[in-house]
Amino acid sequence: MASPAPVVTRFAPSPTGFLHIGGARTALFNWLYARAKGGRFLLRIEDTDRARSTPEATEAILEGLTWLGLDWEGEPISQASRAARHAEVAEQMVASGHAYRCYATKEEIDAFREAEKAAGRAPLFRSPWRDGGTPPEGAAHVVRLKAPQSGETVVEDQVQGKVTWKNETLDDLILLRSDGTPTYMLAVVVDDHDMGITHVIRGDDHLTNAARQTLIYQGAGWDLPVFAHIPLIHGPDGAKLSKRHGALGVEAYRDMGYLPEAMRNYLARLGWSHGDDEFFTTEQAVEWFDLGGIGKSPARFDFKKLENLSGQHIRALDDDGMIAALRQFAASQHMPEFTAEQESQMRACGASLRERAKTLPELLGMAHFILSARPFAPDEKASNQLDSVSRGMLKRLTTRLQHASWSKPELESVIKDFAEGEGLKLGKVAQPLRAALTGRTVSPSVFDVMEVIGKAETLARLEDTTG
Ligand code: GLU
Repeated sequence: MASPAPVVTRFAPSPTGFLHIGGARTALFNWLYARAKGGRFLLRIEDTDRARSTPEATEAILEGLTWLGLDWEGEPISQASRAARHAEVAEQMVASGHAYRCYATKEEIDAFREAEKAAGRAPLFRSPWRDGGTPPEGAAHVVRLKAPQSGETVVEDQVQGKVTWKNETLDDLILLRSDGTPTYMLAVVVDDHDMGITHVIRGDDHLTNAARQTLIYQGAGWDLPVFAHIPLIHGPDGAKLSKRHGALGVEAYRDMGYLPEAMRNYLARLGWSHGDDEFFTTEQAVEWFDLGGIGKSPARFDFKKLENLSGQHIRALDDDGMIAALRQFAASQHMPEFTAEQESQMRACGASLRERAKTLPELLGMAHFILSARPFAPDEKASNQLDSVSRGMLKRLTTRLQHASWSKPELESVIKDFAEGEGLKLGKVAQPLRAALTGRTVSPSVFDVMEVIGKAETLARLEDTTG
């Protein structure tokens, strides 16, 4: 027996805007499925709508996919560049009797539809040219599919199950317009066939197209791909996803400082599940992904869940991964490069930086005491910690620290002793101390901070504050 054909999937965006979150999820599912099955993932740019397609949008989509780490095989295919091939297939279908030239004018079509409506029937156009005839001299024509008018068209969808259309509800759709250009419906089928696509995984807004495309496949005498139509993403309130809900371009998520691996994890969970697993790596997703795990009801976009996963992925980074992610983020935000000293200081307290950060800006906030040079202005909350009483207390502490040797255990015991001597709880010393050393109220522990920046810098920052 022949072994099953290797899986080939594709992502086929229309380049009319950014790669939004729904498109990114479709791309991810196709990428995961190809990876899971040892297959190939291809990219096709559906740029046939010349008025709405822009090279900038194509660029943004490729950039978005690249940031997400969804690599495709070969060059992206431009649908528009294949118009001659689309027309060729339409002509072959005319020759084989599965399509025909229709010379009906717009007025004739409108009149036909009106009459159908008046008679209480669905206003589907039935062309008189379906069964031939002698064309008027020099008249323009379109090419229409000769679709079956009785029986049923069935799509065995991997997510939606078996979906059936009565053929009498489907008309003879246009394959080639009167100027010879292909319609979208024809172009998709020809391209998917020629690219050897075995599995079409896309949003369920394309489900009806699958029925019409099935008829084209049949007319062309081609094997059908496997279809899997995924429910669209909704907002947390169950309504259709809007900008307010998070229907943004993926670059907006990059700019908010989510890690690509966290986005992949979160997007995979938007509509697909593997048992109760919420947090997983991309390797695990590749190992587990299958069409059977895609749910039938729309997933709800939830920023809280994304943040939570993002925090877990940040904690899962090692020091190298953290530095790489921060460098990439800083570059994307046009921030200055880190110095070698800053990087080694961030490594020196990597785990405590990562402990509570849910996004990369939060991680940078934790590292503020490393990344900004003194004297730096404390933020508002930190200023509130530095009233004259606290500053007096820090001045006395400075004297003690001048004589301390600089190791974490030693610093801990000096500060504990000092707090006791002042009749203060440790926190009452640590909070103003943190404010003075970091300019913030959130940072790694003050002992970590002092160890990382060293004695001279600690004393200098204290002196900046206490005057
Ligand atoms: N270009 C279509 C879209 O962006 C996708 C077509 C398809 O996946 O078949 O919605």
